[in-house]
Amino acid sequence: TEPKSPGFVPLYQSWESFYTRNLYRRIRDCWNRPIASVAAAEMDVLQRATDDHGWNFSLTGEKKHVMNFGSYNYLGFSQNTGPCADAVEKAVEKFGVSSCGSRQELGYTDLHRELDDLVAEYLGVEDAITVPMGFATNSMNMPALVGHGSLILSDELNHASLILGSRLSGATIRTYKHNNMKDLEKKLCDAVVHGRPRTHRPWKKILIVVEGVYSMEGSIACLPDVIRLKKKYKAYVYLDEAHSIGAMGPHGKGVVDYFGLDPREIDIMMGTFTKSFGAAGGYIGGKKSIINHLRISSHAAIYSSTMPFCVIQQVLSSMKIMMGKDGTDEGRKRIQQLKWNTRYFRRRLYDMGFILYGNVDAPLVPMLIYVPARVIAFSRLCLERGLGTVVVGFPATPIIESRARFCLSAAHTKEMLDKALSIIDEVGTILHLKYSRQPPPVF
Ligand code: PMP
Repeated sequence: TEPKSPGFVPLYQSWESFYTRNLYRRIRDCWNRPIASVAAAEMDVLQRATDDHGWNFSLTGEKKHVMNFGSYNYLGFSQNTGPCADAVEKAVEKFGVSSCGSRQELGYTDLHRELDDLVAEYLGVEDAITVPMGFATNSMNMPALVGHGSLILSDELNHASLILGSRLSGATIRTYKHNNMKDLEKKLCDAVVHGRPRTHRPWKKILIVVEGVYSMEGSIACLPDVIRLKKKYKAYVYLDEAHSIGAMGPHGKGVVDYFGLDPREIDIMMGTFTKSFGAAGGYIGGKKSIINHLRISSHAAIYSSTMPFCVIQQVLSSMKIMMGKDGTDEGRKRIQQLKWNTRYFRRRLYDMGFILYGNVDAPLVPMLIYVPARVIAFSRLCLERGLGTVVVGFPATPIIESRARFCLSAAHTKEMLDKALSIIDEVGTILHLKYSRQPPPVF
């Protein structure tokens, strides 16, 4: 039995449970819904039964086949058929599943080396290191790069893994307004001109941390301006390309490619394999000196087992297809298809009268629902009609900016896009989510 003393807080209770219990008490069946198939362009979701109060989330055992507009399967590589799947099967036969060791303890094989080299070649940087988890790539490598006496300037909407990495590093953290270059320059100016350097000594390092594409906003980092500022104020840039690598730019090489920049201008290029590559894990690319430093000092490299072989093979195969190394045009076609799908879907939603956030080329389309209570209805009504989406609310977004977030994929056909759009149109009408874009009448 639990002690009843006044200061006692049960282990399961956190500040978040206040919101989950009170604010979202009726709507939790939108999340943690198990799927029972590959997270491809279409999928099977398990049906849930909820009681009148939305409290009973038991699974009924029934499956429902729906279109998948929620997974980060940007280039359609999550499928369990095709050239990647065949190669993965062979890799399991040859190497088994796990390396059963860290980089420094017999866990580093020639397949891992091949992956590090291919990633460096793909990014156009000197060297790269790969880590079995995208989240840990940020949270465990950042502390090896900066520490006490350094300053991190972080975009206010950066991902939780970047926030955790920044905190664990022990560096001083200052946030600047999302994508606001004036605010970033002001903070840099404060740090360099009026800050510690004048009175004591300069910050050991100043690290500007940005994401390529912001996953909740669909916005793109103002990378050319960030690079201009980093040069002006002698800072470093850490770029998280989780949602942009493979999905942005004419060659699918992320926002660096999108803006036509030289990848060597970015000090730390980070990305994950969980999205465009249909695999798992993450990478950091950059100068040889930095990557060698991470190999011997990052917790992710020393204390964690290396990437499983089947995952490596999935990344190798999909990356080679994207680079055209398989001798076909498949990679380029997928990148173009994703771009076409994204623009078409976004344009049609806009014309229907929905309020959207983000950039036209970002493969994520956030659509505003505003009121948290409508989030549940949107998710349920779409699912009933055969459309699986992701809905997001507080604390991932401001409380009155709840939204649905559609993830486009090269694997979506035009018929699927049209069907999904007609479902969203219907549900949007029921829930009064659409605003007229007709010009006002002229009297
Ligand atoms: N960085 C960003 C910007 C992300 O959105 C995510 C997760 N989607 C991660 C890192 C963590 O990646 P993973 O899911 O591969 O652990």
